[in-house]
Amino acid sequence: MADRYLRFTGTAPGRFLTRRLGLPQPAALRPWSPGTPTLDGPLLHLTAGDSAVTDRLGALLASTGLDVSGPGGTAERPAGIVLDATGVVTPGGLAEVHAALHPVIRSLAPGGRVVVLGVRPSADDHHQAAAQQALEGFVRSLGKEVGRGATVQLLRIVPEGVGAAGSTLRFLLSPRSAYVSGQVIELTAAEPGPVADPAAPLAGRTALVTGAARGIGASVAGVLVRDGARVLVLDVPAVRDELAATAERLGATALPLDITADDAAERIADAVPDGLDVLVHNAGITRDRRLANMPAERWASVVDVNLDSVLRTTDALLKAGTLNHGGRIVATASIAGIAGNNGQTNYAASKAGIIGLVRSLAPRAAAEHGITVNAVAPGFIETRMTAAVPLFIREAGRRMNSLAQGGLPVDVAETAAWFAQPGSAAVNGQVVRVCGQSLLGA
Ligand code: NAD
Repeated sequence: MADRYLRFTGTAPGRFLTRRLGLPQPAALRPWSPGTPTLDGPLLHLTAGDSAVTDRLGALLASTGLDVSGPGGTAERPAGIVLDATGVVTPGGLAEVHAALHPVIRSLAPGGRVVVLGVRPSADDHHQAAAQQALEGFVRSLGKEVGRGATVQLLRIVPEGVGAAGSTLRFLLSPRSAYVSGQVIELTAAEPGPVADPAAPLAGRTALVTGAARGIGASVAGVLVRDGARVLVLDVPAVRDELAATAERLGATALPLDITADDAAERIADAVPDGLDVLVHNAGITRDRRLANMPAERWASVVDVNLDSVLRTTDALLKAGTLNHGGRIVATASIAGIAGNNGQTNYAASKAGIIGLVRSLAPRAAAEHGITVNAVAPGFIETRMTAAVPLFIREAGRRMNSLAQGGLPVDVAETAAWFAQPGSAAVNGQVVRVCGQSLLGA
């Protein structure tokens, strides 16, 4: 499962050879751990166009405790750049985006972060819509150019609600988002919830992660525990021992339960007498076959685990009031649900279904229960699921993204943990790909 190519390119002969042959040269990504600074160097605050949010954005960036240079400042080797392009309302104004970034992009530090701030393209002003949509193409191209482990995102904010962007900016600027690039994230203006201790933003909260005996789910559970939550890990009774060991290792509580069982929601509700604050639907299976060869049972089991059970438990837990006000629902899609994949009509249908569920439920869940609903869409993540993929397809999956490597379970976990934070109330209805900007479905 180890990525030997990544290790080889990290050595001097490996670098020499791969450069001579014109092969991908992935930069090893540095994971976040408590004590790691959000940014290892200055943050440049730049502006393009007439921004109405300069002062409030400046105050928000200052409150992060980062070494901010700007608005309009300079830094020799910025570790991060926030370009405020919310005031770009005509295609002509895009020249200011070029003028702001062209002189500094070459000096961005390895593993640097670029966040372009925009607003939602207008339904009434097609000039503004053209300019703001242009930022999407710009960001996605820059993400493919920057190299050396750097990432580039477009964050659409509501100008009156700049303050709602704090948790998202912190996530996108930090190593926690190492494998997230080329994403367009749209925020609402919802006020962030209170956080007593920034080192433990989930203190006092109860979370449940399905499919958490191993792989991505176990990593999500571990990060939620790290962030202060009381965590229940759920997995099928057949892996009861592995689940118990994971629970023990993480300091979580094991709940052996098949999520497709008729009484699954009831059993979950019984296990959390004070209600649930964070529900992470992670359990998932693949049963690959081309449609022409796929028996009905393979189709049904995948749709049942990956989609139907998510709908059933979510509905039942919302109806019963088990999900507390201010809660968070995080579902797991996949880039296969966006791009489609040979032999995965069942899997891709179930994961695309998750995207439909998230987009439809999010506004209602927020209005009726103060709950957000978002999805992570992992790309190629180094787990048992992808270790089983044939060698050449596995190598292609690892290299065919802007960061030229597979992601780690912790990359998905950090994204889920950002959704889960009380400060992320403005993140709702989003599907965020954790795929290193995979070429698939780009
Ligand atoms: P994994 O197979 O390692 O882990 C999945 C876990 O879900 C297992 O522990 C399994 O026992 C559990 N599970 C399966 N059916 C269940 C059920 N009915 N009830 C309760 N638990 C059940 O997979 P992973 O790679 O860690 O994937 C986790 C999630 O991420 C899945 O939803 C998967 O589709 C998605 N995903 C993974 C990748 C990747 O590259 N690994 C890419 C895209 C999406």
